[in-house]
Parts: sequence; structure tokens; C-alpha cells
Amino acid sequence: MAKLALITGATAGIGFSTAKLLAANGYNLLLTGRREERLRQIKQQLEAENSIQVHVDSFDISVRQECESFITRNKTTLEGLNVLVNNAGLAKGVDPIQSAKLDDWESMLDTNVKGLFFMTRLCLPFLEKSIGSHIINVSSVAGQWVYPGGGVYCSTKHAVSAFSQGLRMDLHGKGIRVTNICPGLVETEFSKVRLNDDIKAEEVYKGMSPLTPEDIAASILWSLQQPQHVNIQEMTIFPTDQASVNLVHRT
Ligand code: NAP
Repeated sequence: MAKLALITGATAGIGFSTAKLLAANGYNLLLTGRREERLRQIKQQLEAENSIQVHVDSFDISVRQECESFITRNKTTLEGLNVLVNNAGLAKGVDPIQSAKLDDWESMLDTNVKGLFFMTRLCLPFLEKSIGSHIINVSSVAGQWVYPGGGVYCSTKHAVSAFSQGLRMDLHGKGIRVTNICPGLVETEFSKVRLNDDIKAEEVYKGMSPLTPEDIAASILWSLQQPQHVNIQEMTIFPTDQASVNLVHRT
């Protein structure tokens, strides 16, 4: 029987590329994000290109009640859940802590931390019923190191890394694998959302070769494809042009 993967934040970037790759590898999908029309188009595209079923549901992951309602609405589908890809997330702003906007902090904390934590807790009763379930958390190199102007975004991703460790310990012996993926610079809508300025967003990747969302999707698929006794706990993936969080080679 085909496996079912729930991917949060599948309307763009890493989530969308992962949806495309898992679809091509025979997974049925449950895709989420806030953009309803985009989800509908993706369902149409992926079902036309692959012999799989795609379910979609739009909601705001940063709101606890919306996460709970999503679970209630999709209970029947979730009964077959094997894989959870906790991908939805964002950065807002690059201001120093002393002058940053509290609204930006709230958005990052509610989405990257609370949204991911709540979705994991709410999906676990379903994942525990399937043999060999797998949770993939999309953290970041910002979950391993900190850079100026990124104090709060980095804090949220450090929280994801800590949560992944805690999950592995609490689920120990249940055969559920937990993989924490930490990408460096990936060219997606991420910088447009963070900087709210398309020109400045383009400059982030200027003169260097960033990772593509397909690179991260490939790493996610590879983690899923390992034999059941192998758990890729952490994966740190930088572009060759990026030696550390704030050391980027540009031509
Ligand atoms: P992206 O292209 O901006 O995609 C972000 C996805 O998250 C979108 O599908 C968006 O969907 C969804 N999302 C954001 N806020 C949401 C909310 N409140 N409720 C529901 N869905 C929400 O960025 P990306 O680079 O693919 O980011 C994916 C993950 O990778 C994030 O967790 C990010 O922190 C992480 N990451 C990115 C990079 C990078 O350089 N790009 C590096 C390391 C880690 P809607 O807009 O439709 O809601």
C-alpha cells in the first residue's frame, strides 16, 4: 500500500519540491499551507503527473485552534499517516534584538516553534499506529549557529533542533524515526518573506550558487529511503559557496 506523507508549507519552496519528489516516488500526500488556490493547483498538477492521491487543506499553522480543526477535519485521511514533514516556517526581519518588531517575533515563534510542536503532538497518535513512521523536521543551520540580526529566527530553529532530540528520546523503542534537516542558504520565497523587498531578496543569492529546494527535497527522500534500522538524526547541508552561517563566497 502507498505511504501517506503530510507536508506542511507545501505551497512553495522546499515543501513544494518535497511534495513533487515524494509524489514521483509513489507517496500519497496531504499538503498544507495558507494559500488555498495554490494548493488546489498543486493537487491538480501532482495527480495529473503521478498515480497518487493528493489531499489539500489550507490553514494557518501559527494558530493552535486552526491546527486542531485541521486534525478533526482530516481524521479519516490521517488514519493512514506514515510520514510527517514539518516544513512550514519563516523568518521576519533582520533587525537587531534591541530594535526588532515584536510582531515579527510573534510570527516566527508562533509558526516555527508552536506550529511545529503542536502539529507534531497532534499527528503522533496517527503516526504511532503505523509501523516505521518517520518525522522530518526542517530546522536550519540557524538551529546550530547564530548570526547578527537573526537572534530570534535562530532561537526558533534551535528550538526545533532541541525538540527533535527530545522527540527521539520520548519515542525511543517505538520504531519512529526523527530526522532534523539543517539547510544553509536555499533560494526560495524565504528571503522575500523575510525582507519584504524583492530586490533585496535577490541580493541574498547574488554572485553565489545557493542550494535549490530540490536539493533539500532529495535529502528528505534519501532519509526516508534508508532501511528501518537506520535513522539519519541530523543533516547539515550548506552550499559549497557558504562555509558558515555568515561566510559566503561571491564572485
Ligand atoms: P518559502 O518558499 O517561503 O516557503 C515557506 C512555506 O511555509 C510556504 O509554503 C508557506 O505557505 C508556509 N507557511 C509559512 N507560514 C505559514 C503559516 N503561518 N501557516 C501555514 N503555512 C505557512 O520558504 P522555504 O525556504 O521553502 O522554507 C521552508 C522551511 O525551510 C522553513 O521552515 C524555513 O525556515 C526553512 N529553511 C529555509 C532556508 C532557506 O534559505 N530558504 C534555510 C534553512 C531552513 P503559505 O504562504 O501558503 O502559508
